[in-house]
Amino acid sequence: GVRQLVDVHQGIEDTLHIFSHRLKPGIEIDRCYDRTLPQIEAYGSELNQVWTHLVDNAIDAMAGKGRLKITTVRDGNYICVEIADSGTGIPPEIQSRIFESFFTTKPVGQGTGLGLDIVRRIVENRHQGTISIESKPGSTRFAIRLPLG
Ligand code: ADP
Ligand code: MG
Repeated sequence: GVRQLVDVHQGIEDTLHIFSHRLKPGIEIDRCYDRTLPQIEAYGSELNQVWTHLVDNAIDAMAGKGRLKITTVRDGNYICVEIADSGTGIPPEIQSRIFESFFTTKPVGQGTGLGLDIVRRIVENRHQGTISIESKPGSTRFAIRLPLG
């Protein structure tokens, strides 16, 4: 991977575009972007994998209908990206396991259980960022915090 100046909004928009056929027509996208956000020094294609896995999971959880809200904010020397969906939610008893490799609740062939393992490695190990979740029935929010670089 190459470390470069990355426009996070561009990466998120590219990801949404790739998923557009699965988002339409039932899923409403709510963009709450801080347009003054600076570019960050990061591994751009790896960050695109992060957005891809999170949006993919959100779409699965909403089963074709709901609201996907993406928020970006500056937080000191970090930027914060929140991806929230109105899907099933993650039961408390499995929240501690979702980052494990091969942990999936999806039918055989539909989930590898590797998405969040990859997301965590890219955020924490590659970018010294953090990831947190908040979920209850009917909503899940992943918050990714990344240093400006
Ligand atoms: P996979 O998508 O292949 O199952 P992931 O590592 O991406 O693997 O996710 C692991 C599990 O975490 C999923 O099977 C699902 O149970 C849960 N999960 C992840 N994101 C969400 C979400 N947005 N809403 C509900 N459940 C989720
Ligand atoms: Mg996944």
